[in-house]
Amino acid sequence: MSDSFDVVVIGAGPAGYPAAIRAGQNKLSVACVDEWKNFDGTYAFGGTCLNAGCIPSKALLESSELFQRAKDEFAVHGIKLGDIKLDLAAMQKRRAAIVKTMTGGITALFKANGVVGIQGHGQLLPGNKVVVTAADGSQRTLQAKNVILASGSTPIRLKTVPHDGKFIVDSWNALEFDAVPARLGVIGAGVIGLELGSVWRRLGSEVTVLEALENFLPMVDQTIAKEAQRHFKKQGLDIKLGAKVLRAEVKGAAVDLVYADAQGEHQLQVDKLVVAVGRRPFTEGLLAEGTGVELDARGFIQVDDHCRTGTTGVWAVGDAVRGPMLAHKGKEEGVMVADLIAGHFGEVNYKVIPSVIYTAPEIAWVGQTEEQVKASGRAYKVGAFPFAASGRARAMEAGQGMAKIVAAKDDDEVLGIHVIGPMAGELIGEAVLAMEYSASTEDIQRTMHAHPTLSEAIHEAALAVDKKAIDSINR
Ligand code: FAD
Ligand code: NAD
Repeated sequence: MSDSFDVVVIGAGPAGYPAAIRAGQNKLSVACVDEWKNFDGTYAFGGTCLNAGCIPSKALLESSELFQRAKDEFAVHGIKLGDIKLDLAAMQKRRAAIVKTMTGGITALFKANGVVGIQGHGQLLPGNKVVVTAADGSQRTLQAKNVILASGSTPIRLKTVPHDGKFIVDSWNALEFDAVPARLGVIGAGVIGLELGSVWRRLGSEVTVLEALENFLPMVDQTIAKEAQRHFKKQGLDIKLGAKVLRAEVKGAAVDLVYADAQGEHQLQVDKLVVAVGRRPFTEGLLAEGTGVELDARGFIQVDDHCRTGTTGVWAVGDAVRGPMLAHKGKEEGVMVADLIAGHFGEVNYKVIPSVIYTAPEIAWVGQTEEQVKASGRAYKVGAFPFAASGRARAMEAGQGMAKIVAAKDDDEVLGIHVIGPMAGELIGEAVLAMEYSASTEDIQRTMHAHPTLSEAIHEAALAVDKKAIDSINR
């Protein structure tokens, strides 16, 4: 096999593997090097997202929601079941099987697109060479016209809360618990804290979430965040805001922690403690001396808007570079770079990146929050539609939450769409497309939406912007 490639990608997560596939589609010779190893020591492509993030978390969110609905909601539908019991081993087996199928799928996609998948550690050397070290220590040097760095991210650890992987854990460990912890502590009420907190709460844990900030979900439109907070409280997630964890230690088979809030210091004992305080770019062992690739003060690989590093022919994408740490953002960057390398057009619209929090109800948004528009000084108008007025949501026993649109007063352009409610993550697709095409609310108003569907909430919210909603009272 030749060791010379048009493109070598380091990292096969959702940023790296699409870059490799698109390079193959563009008829470039391409290799993709990845070192991910699962807890059982086996290599797997797919990175954080497929092995320890997006996919396993969504598998457990789905299973745990079904479990809870079977217990609490089926009777409302007139479905009577006997004693509902949890088989966590079966639930975890399903989660692991989904991950295995998806990561195995990448090997098949690589083959179909002519990508040479290589398992081992990759390091960039000066002159666009990549040295790959295999598990047995053997080395191979690849020469590349272009190198795409897609090394991803890793959880941030707290010095005063020492990780042991058993009692004080990260999100990956928390996806693989083999028993439901009676008392679960989570540090950080961000996306991971809320999603994993929801999973274990639904399966029976008493969950306490400690969040350092006073504000709940500051990046989310605050009308939506307030609604979310109300639902999570009702579900029994004990979210303590303004709570700074001072220290934690494992004592016997439990974790003792001390946190401080405006009232003073408090002690808490939990059976497992998940640290979910954000992630940092992962670049350990990635760059040899003299490559010219630079990191910023926070450790992100420095790139321009087209993901070029300062070194000719070296690009970087995904969680390892600036911007939100989201799989779809990394994917679009990877595809853009592979197209640019092939001489095609490539662009990422960083203003239109959707976000989804897969709780129940789901939260999804794109564009600016009302608070951001207000702060920008631009005159704006707002329309909202409650799912309580949606026939489809009612039929689904999911008449909670709302869709909200913020639009410019002068030219009616949609500036932000925010949804909390059933399938919000699916509904946001329409919003993203609308904003990608710079839609006005009138464009959405004049677009026919099938009845009865959840998507009518977006239609009605657009109508409500101009006080023309049909199925709810205009305010
Ligand atoms: P990664 O997925 O981290 O992949 C990087 C890969 O590069 C890894 O396989 C790593 O082993 C490999 N690598 C690193 N250095 C080297 C090297 N030197 N040599 C060889 N290989 C190397 N995002 C969403 O959009 N939606 C979600 O629902 C979602 N859920 C999440 C849930 C959890 C619990 C977590 C932790 C994250 C979640 N994310 C989600 C975030 C998402 O996983 C990341 O944004 C995404 O994985 C980043 O992709 P990436 O390719 O940049 O990096
Ligand atoms: P996050 O940034 O979403 O949330 C971390 C939270 O921890 C913040 O609210 C922060 O204020 C708080 N925090 C930080 N230090 C603290 C401390 N010492 N004590 C208490 N609270 C503290 O990060 P995350 O939840 O760890 O997720 C990491 C990344 O993974 C995010 O960037 C996210 O985009 C991505 N992710 C995405 C999804 C999704 O798209 N559905 C799901 C999971 C993760």
